[in-house]
Amino acid sequence: MELRIRNLSKTYPNGVRALRDVTLTAGSGIFGLLGPNGAGKSTLMRILATLQEADAGTVFLDDLDVLREKDAVRHLLGYLPQEFGLYPKVAAWRLLDHFAELKGIGNRAGRRAVVDMLLHQTNLWDARNQRLGTFSGGMKQRFGIAQALIGDPKLVIVDEPTAGLDPEERSRFHNLLSEIGERVVVILSTHIVSDVADLCPAMAIIHQGSVVASGAPGELAERLEGRIWQTSASRADVPGYQESLPVISMRLAAGRTLIRVFSPTCPGPEFTAAAPDVEDVYFSTVHAPEPATC
Ligand code: ADP
Repeated sequence: MELRIRNLSKTYPNGVRALRDVTLTAGSGIFGLLGPNGAGKSTLMRILATLQEADAGTVFLDDLDVLREKDAVRHLLGYLPQEFGLYPKVAAWRLLDHFAELKGIGNRAGRRAVVDMLLHQTNLWDARNQRLGTFSGGMKQRFGIAQALIGDPKLVIVDEPTAGLDPEERSRFHNLLSEIGERVVVILSTHIVSDVADLCPAMAIIHQGSVVASGAPGELAERLEGRIWQTSASRADVPGYQESLPVISMRLAAGRTLIRVFSPTCPGPEFTAAAPDVEDVYFSTVHAPEPATC
């Protein structure tokens, strides 16, 4: 299966241009769509999920015209929106059973088999009789994936699924997604760089409605080879570096600040060359610092 998005644009009635000529191709596996808040990710996800109209452009899932054949797409689609409400007093298995019925699995025994399988797959079997209101953030997200997987979708869209999860829940959610990604096209939208770096064989960065980079994370990082420099600075020196150099990230390490700079040449004798990573790709693309001159 292949999802092909071509020249997709969307402007809201208030004049905000949420998507500008977006062109992307995603094969099976998890495709990471990375971008800051307001970049246009949810708008793109909602258009792919047939919940919103585009102004221009095309989207095809193999031969299926996603923008026109909405009913057919809905049969192939699993969608985990950024925010979704759950009935807090209903037991997990009962709501899943209800969603399965809504998705057209009329036969009770058939539904039971699907619901049981999904509860096991998302590691919620032991909590199946628990009310949804008692679920942790991670459990809710896994429940969201369980409902998205009803009906064996071929395209799964997950919008910012790991925001607010603790590291253990995130890692559990990552494992679940990568298992799903072995079988179907998964589009993962996130502003968390490590979600994409850990999970996605292919990615794109979206900024102010435009795709500003796309490719394999490793290849995108390689393109920065020789242009990422780092040094460890004391707290007092940090503002000086920020004023004079294109700093792309700062991280505390052992009480000092590790500063990474984007520059075609070595910015100073205290800097050493660093191996570029996806975070460098993201920050150098989204914040687009001016190259330093020595
Ligand atoms: P992201 O998911 O990357 O945070 P969104 O797609 O939610 O980005 O938003 C992209 C831009 O479109 C933002 O500037 C946002 O304020 C605007 N926007 C989103 N939804 C609407 C809407 N329904 N009406 C008007 N503007 C909107």
